[in-house]
Amino acid sequence: MELFLYNTLSLQKEKFEPIKSGEAGIYTCGPTVYNYAHLGNLRTYLFQDFLVRTLAYKGYKVKRVMNITDVGHLSGDGDMGEDKMEKGSAREGRSAWDIAAYYTDAFKEDMDLLNMIAPDVYCRATDNIPEQIDLVKQLEAKGFTYVTSDGVYFDTAKFPDYNRLSHLPLEELREGARVEKNPEKKNPTDFSLWKFSPIGEKRQMEWESPWGLGFPGWHLECSAMSLKYLGEQRDIHCGGIDHINVHHTNEIAQSEAATGETFFRYWLHGAFLNIAGGKKMAKSENNYLTVANALVNKEINPLAFRYATLQVHYRKPMDYSENNLRQAEQGLNSLYRQIAALGSDIGEAGAGAKDEFVEAITDDLNMPVALSVLFKILKSEMPMPAKLGAALDFDRVLGLNLASAISRFEETAQKLELPEEVKCLLAARQKARQEKDWEKADALRVDITNLGYNLTDGPEGQQVELINHEE
Ligand code: AMP
Ligand code: ZN
Repeated sequence: MELFLYNTLSLQKEKFEPIKSGEAGIYTCGPTVYNYAHLGNLRTYLFQDFLVRTLAYKGYKVKRVMNITDVGHLSGDGDMGEDKMEKGSAREGRSAWDIAAYYTDAFKEDMDLLNMIAPDVYCRATDNIPEQIDLVKQLEAKGFTYVTSDGVYFDTAKFPDYNRLSHLPLEELREGARVEKNPEKKNPTDFSLWKFSPIGEKRQMEWESPWGLGFPGWHLECSAMSLKYLGEQRDIHCGGIDHINVHHTNEIAQSEAATGETFFRYWLHGAFLNIAGGKKMAKSENNYLTVANALVNKEINPLAFRYATLQVHYRKPMDYSENNLRQAEQGLNSLYRQIAALGSDIGEAGAGAKDEFVEAITDDLNMPVALSVLFKILKSEMPMPAKLGAALDFDRVLGLNLASAISRFEETAQKLELPEEVKCLLAARQKARQEKDWEKADALRVDITNLGYNLTDGPEGQQVELINHEE
């Protein structure tokens, strides 16, 4: 079955055809490590995790590269704002290098908590300064650059189809860029490739270059590192939709101007996580929540957020609220209980069941439908081992840690503090039911009731509660 992905370049779903058959090279724009990632950022990284897992499930050899932006990202994504790393350093009274190291570790921890597969390559902008300088040299040699008092700029008027990714009239892109009011730029959409260190100000992060002491423009690192770490295999490039008009547009312009080759063929963009009132979650809005304060500190399983993001297609906006998260956690726990009730024999999922699942994930990563296929199977007449086999197979893509459901279920049973005797009887009854020994199961039910527990068999397996004699 083929894989279809929605390409922002063509504004349609396209059949995925990699450069080298059977392989997939992916570049995902990574975090600026001046603060914790927020749930909005993480929603975008989760959709990329679904992409990587879907490709792996389909048998592709995946190589995913993710950059760590530890220099050069100015607030507002433009060329005139404050430096985000220096800002983090001033806020916390630590060096920019310490800030970068600390928040890089924090980011990797969040990735783990949300069960995201680590990229094959994590690369830091500061480890790739010569490569970035080299790219500017190539652009200079080809006549795409000019120098102003504060840096080296890319002349967007010289690049044909500059609006190819955004599909916006050039005038509109220019209007968007005009807020910056940089009188030395030839065109409002021009962007810096290299910024000079301000005169009389010692920056913490700065490097010598043929044009003067300074630091790279933010967009440059992604071009230089895509070319370096993916080589020819530049298939898919991802980010959030806010990257379309400026960051990715500029990445394409400078890369293709320098190399004369197509930069990436497929451009995938995830929609925003919004907060009450449809406002985008953003650090600049100060309305953001992190894994720590929205999940861990509230004792909500971080995978509940993963589950919530699976329930909304990645190109649709998603609303954050604590209530939504708690509902997602209930849904996830219900799924765990249903899995736990299947016993531990793992069988083969029938081809028919798998086909429907694969059809969903290969239709532009339609995870809401993929989840519904799983629920349909759990409710079906399929034998329990086949159900369990299907669930564990699908979990290679869903990443909900379903294999842990059995031990997790036992843990919650312990929390209810059921007496050992009742737990043994429940286990024996579950076994009897699996073996379709209904007579034994009924006898065990009587034993359990006699000990003062009410037993029901629901879709989530056996449920017990203490009989309340006062009623
Ligand atoms: P940044 O650190 O700002 O470069 O953002 C990291 C990633 O998160 C980028 O791919 C952004 O497009 C994405 N992003 C930022 N805000 C949100 C949001 N509210 N919802 C979804 N993705 C976001
Ligand atoms: Zn990027």
